[in-house]
Amino acid sequence: MSFKFLNQLPTPAEIKEKYPLSEELVKLKKERDAIISDVICGKDDRFLVIIGPCSADNEDSVCDYVSRLTKIQDDVKDRVIIIPRIYTNKPRTTGEGYKGIASQPDPEKDPDMVEGLIAMRKMHIRAIAESGLTCADEMLYPENWGYVEDLLSYVAIGARSVEDQQHRLTASGFDVASGMKNPTSGDFSVMLNSVYAAQHPHHFVYRGYEVETPGNPLTHVVLRGAVSKHGNTTTNYHYEDLIRLHEMYEKMELVNPAAVIDTNHSNSGKQFKEQIRIAKEVMHNRILSPEIKKLVKGLMIESYIEEGNQHIGDHIYGKSITDPCLGWEDSKKLIYDIAEMNK
Ligand code: PEP
Ligand code: MN
Repeated sequence: MSFKFLNQLPTPAEIKEKYPLSEELVKLKKERDAIISDVICGKDDRFLVIIGPCSADNEDSVCDYVSRLTKIQDDVKDRVIIIPRIYTNKPRTTGEGYKGIASQPDPEKDPDMVEGLIAMRKMHIRAIAESGLTCADEMLYPENWGYVEDLLSYVAIGARSVEDQQHRLTASGFDVASGMKNPTSGDFSVMLNSVYAAQHPHHFVYRGYEVETPGNPLTHVVLRGAVSKHGNTTTNYHYEDLIRLHEMYEKMELVNPAAVIDTNHSNSGKQFKEQIRIAKEVMHNRILSPEIKKLVKGLMIESYIEEGNQHIGDHIYGKSITDPCLGWEDSKKLIYDIAEMNK
């Protein structure tokens, strides 16, 4: 046994008791969850825009960013539902070094898991309180779900996790919209199988307990582009990709067929400015095809205050320390354009 057991972590119940969500915000989350659920189920034809930095590395700049979205949300409320991205578990691509605020509240200091769990919860609560918007996170570590389950309105399972049994089983117990990304290989059937797994009930081991889950009917797919065996990126947001997805969805027994298109990652080849063109192409294809319009319920956009990215230690306020992001002015304009194109 080469593990060194350093610390017993507080349970989700202990951390929640110390950092509770106010009754008013519990109500707000319930209302937002119901709207998002209606969008995924096709009962509400507004469009989801899941937008924010690749990794939520700094509470002040992330909350500043999220609060800027409040006015835009109000302006576009008849056409778009904004779900800010607050990704607290986001590591660098190789997993080396920084592993997200949930492991390391200060990217320049050593990991501290207890402080990390608190930082993750505090940042989500502050963002909701200041912006009135409940947010999205990625469940990179499924055992973290309990620490934030009462705060999140959207959960993503990442490209590298979507084939993993524990992620699929845990997603079957989430009670909010959950996006299963296509794996980095780009295989749609792996992604749809993971939606199938998460939409069904399961009996398994979770955090030292034997548990049962009911299955999550709000599980859907997220297209993020792929990487070929030669290491080249290939896209999957074009008209033909979406029609192929529609046809594959039809052949499977899945409820609430839905897709969110991730405009960055392998779809943009991390050319972050391309996100504007990609988002507009998807919106245009929704206008051309009733099947695509029905299937594509949202976009996922990487955006922050400053455009691009920086190295850890550069200390530029509101600039990504992981994937390059669209800057604030471009992002703002893009959300208004998306709203305009969702008629
Ligand atoms: C992300 O959403 O920042 C991300 C890295 O996603 P993926 O799992 O698609 O690589
Ligand atoms: Mn990213």
